[in-house]
Amino acid sequence: MKKISILGSTGSIGTQTLEVVRENGDISVLGLAAGSNIDLLEKQIREFHPEKAAVWSEERAKELRLRIADTDTKVYSGMEGLIEIAVMEGAQMVVTAIVGMIGIRPTMEAIKAGKDIALANKETLVTAGHLIMPLAERRGVSILPVDSEHSAIFQSLQGNEANQVKKILLTASGGPFRGKKQEELLEIRAQDALKHPNWTMGAKITIDSSTMVNKGLEVIEAKWLFGLGVEDVQVVVQPQSVIHSMVEYADGAVMAQLGTPDMKLPIQYALYYPERRYLPGERLDFWKIGKLDFEKPDMDTFYALKLAYEAGEKGGSLPTVFNAANELAVSMFLKGDIKYLEIVEIIEDCMSVHKNIEIPSLEQILETEAAVYERINSRR
Ligand code: NDP
Repeated sequence: MKKISILGSTGSIGTQTLEVVRENGDISVLGLAAGSNIDLLEKQIREFHPEKAAVWSEERAKELRLRIADTDTKVYSGMEGLIEIAVMEGAQMVVTAIVGMIGIRPTMEAIKAGKDIALANKETLVTAGHLIMPLAERRGVSILPVDSEHSAIFQSLQGNEANQVKKILLTASGGPFRGKKQEELLEIRAQDALKHPNWTMGAKITIDSSTMVNKGLEVIEAKWLFGLGVEDVQVVVQPQSVIHSMVEYADGAVMAQLGTPDMKLPIQYALYYPERRYLPGERLDFWKIGKLDFEKPDMDTFYALKLAYEAGEKGGSLPTVFNAANELAVSMFLKGDIKYLEIVEIIEDCMSVHKNIEIPSLEQILETEAAVYERINSRR
């Protein structure tokens, strides 16, 4: 029986991972970590009986300990708690479904402990890909993409020679504001941006999809996962979200993975790779779809994508600036503290003053994050 731990079990990816586990019935969950949703975490503990669980604050951990005193699950807290879940003895794989670059340390510790990674937490690779990918190689662990586009690319690479890849065609839905111009986005509120046309996801990634920051993060994620330059990753807007991404080969052949927008497919593929299993759910009906549209991304309106290409090309600590500025700006936007267009203005401002560190250590990545936060907070 395969044994896994999940970081971020109460979120969109975390709960869908547990659905896949429940439906298959042959994976044992050894550890679960969440931020603060102990109501859901308690339910998950009672259903999946993990040995260990973690929540971020010690206060919530205390409360959870009392609530589940009748179970055998031990409860941890803080970064130590996350790492405890990431390195659990006996677990073969860690699903990183936590949101944000807080996932860097637990992911690196999991790799050091020899765990394969089912990676949803793209912010980790974007900021620390230069540390994570070589570490994974040294430890002989696999990084299996959960992000639907990267899973599609990974699936399109199966059975083909990686050195014949010409470019990656990363598809994008364009988000809820596709076709709009900057002046039409001035008064966008959180509830408008939280409506994605095709996918149901956590709040942060839904906002990121609307600004196209998410696509930018995915370009940089693809660079690390597939060992290409960002100039070899071309974003193609495909509004129906039927084609999840494609790979073009040297002979001109383009391989793609298509499907309904259901994250359980990439999650299950990562959990069981290289096995492909039955997955219940809707199937593509090409008569109903009728036609597929393709567009160039509008990088003037959604210039976050341009900034991401710049960050991905220059590398170093600049992707951390791009990511960290976005993480704080999005949380401020969700609280109503800034306007929608300020999210990307803040990213641009932070990038413009940053002195790039070519090969930042983990400490320097975290220092860069802190400096970005300080700059943003001092503006207010
Ligand atoms: P959600 O916001 O739905 O879930 C985030 C999870 O992380 C929750 O379990 C949350 O716990 C947990 N968490 C947050 N902060 C902490 C912390 N300090 N310590 C421990 N756990 C914490 O996000 P998503 O599931 O949407 O996204 C997760 C990751 O997957 C992101 O990196 C995203 O970009 C990526 N991704 C998501 C996709 C999707 O369809 N949702 C698709 C592709 C990638 P709590 O609930 O208690 O706050």
